[in-house]
Formats: sequence, structure tokens, C-alpha cells
Amino acid sequence: MRIGIDLGGTKIEVIALSDQGEELFRKRIPTPRGSYTDTLQAIKRLVDDAELATQQTGTVGIGIPGTISPFSQKVKNANSVWLNGQPLDKDLEQLLQRPVRIANDANCMTVSEATDGAGKGKNIVLALILGTGCGSGIVINGKPHNGANGLGGEWGHNPLPWQDEEEQAVAKATPCYCGKQGCIEQFVSGTGLCDDYQRRSGTRLKGDEIVKLAEQGNKLAEQSLQAYERRLAKSLASYTNILDPDVIIFAGGVCNIERLYKNVPPLLQQYIFGKECFTEIKKAQHGDSSGVRGAAWLWGVDEKS
Ligand SMILES: [Zn+2]
Repeated sequence: MRIGIDLGGTKIEVIALSDQGEELFRKRIPTPRGSYTDTLQAIKRLVDDAELATQQTGTVGIGIPGTISPFSQKVKNANSVWLNGQPLDKDLEQLLQRPVRIANDANCMTVSEATDGAGKGKNIVLALILGTGCGSGIVINGKPHNGANGLGGEWGHNPLPWQDEEEQAVAKATPCYCGKQGCIEQFVSGTGLCDDYQRRSGTRLKGDEIVKLAEQGNKLAEQSLQAYERRLAKSLASYTNILDPDVIIFAGGVCNIERLYKNVPPLLQQYIFGKECFTEIKKAQHGDSSGVRGAAWLWGVDEKS
């Protein structure tokens, strides 16, 4: 059995999967915000609950909002700040009396889709998580690519490529919270889409409301979506020119905008070096469950649990 934990800022979720990927148990509790010790204990209780309910023991994988530094062996870059600076994997291994695998939540999402989702059977799987922020995960032969500095898949805080005048003006006027200007996240996240429409119309709407307006023939909403598609294609082209994945998967709230799957591929071709790119772009299959399923699959299908 494989146990996966999705350690989020507001909730912790556990799932237990059979070796064939069948869901055996699932539970969700609020995260004890601010307390590292309570967070450890909450994870232990969830693992105990899963094992008691299924009468089986399992491997444990955990998805976290951040990463374990390969240098300090401690959590860094987590927006759940009470985890930062803590040796989470070592502490959990001691508490749970077994080896524990930890990965960034974007990587877990990608592992899930690569194992038995939209990227099943592909060697190099790239997933873009387009929501409040924007991140990405790379999975190669079933394993997340963490990288020598724990930076694998850090995509959102590179500059938007081939910026036009309008984009340069936005970059100059509103620096990113990371301290740089013109980051991909500012344009290609769901928030970036809403920002763009607000700049054009003076009104703040949600992504699905902008899509609806465009479908009703609203010009400004249509302009925003076209700009969004072009920016997503540019960002994907520079990524694809380097990684050249076998499949690209969209996840996060934005992945429900159906027109992207029709409009982005031809735009992507225009920006790719040599203009030849036939990589399939697909929607994540496991939706909200991908993070916790991927944590469970950090122990791969070919490994005995
Ligand atoms: Zn940034």
C-alpha cells in the first residue's frame, strides 16, 4: 500500500492507494497553522488512521509547498512559513519509523499525472500549474526532477520571453513580489489573466467570468484571452526549446478554459525554434486529487511497497 500526504497551508490530506492505484482510504483535516510540532503529530495521526482503516502498512510520500534544500537538508521556500528551516523528512522518518519521500507539491502533481493520469506512459512529462500563482513540475521516467539546487521546474519567476511594448510597460509598472520584473507568473497565472482584464476594463472579474464574457462577444474579454494565450505560448516555447517534453499537461484553475487546448498549440509552433512542435497539450486528469495521489506515487509503480 502507498500512503500519500498533501501538506497544504490550510488542510492536510491523506490518501491510501493499493499498488494498482485504487483508492482505499482518504481523509482531510485542517492544518495546525503556525506549529511545526503539531503539524508532525497531525501527519502521524493521519498515517495511523490510514493503516488502521485498511489493516495494512504502507510507504509514505509527502507533498509540501516548498522543497527540501539539498544543502541544508531543511525545508525552504514554503509559504507555510513554520515549515521553513525544519528537517521535515528526518523528523518524520523518526516519528513514523520508516523512510519518507518528500517532494514539492507541483512535482507531486506531475508524478500523479505521469503515473496514471494524462501523462501515463510518457518518459518526460511537463505539467504547468496555472492558478493563483504559476509553477511547473518535471517528471522523467516516473521520478520528479528536483535538480542539484532543488530548482527543477522553477519556471514562474523567469522573465516572460519576447515581450512586446505592452508587456514591457506592465513589467516596468508592477515589479513581481520576488523582486524581479516581468516574471512569467505575473502574466500566465490565473491572477495574471484577471490583472490583464482589469487593466483593459477597469473591472476585476474571475477567470471563468472573463471566458463567459468573451463567449458573449465582449471585445475586451476576448483581447485579454488572446493576450493570455499568446503569453502562455511564448512561455511554453522557451521551456519546450530546452526540455522538449513528450507531453505537456495543464493543471490548476486555468486548465478548465477549454479554448486553450485549441488556440495555444498553433501559437506555440510560431515561437518554437524551427516552428516544428507536435507535443500534445492535455488537461490534468486527476484534478484536485493529483497532489495527494502524486505524493503516494513518490514510491513508484515498479517499487514494492
Ligand atoms: Zn517573480
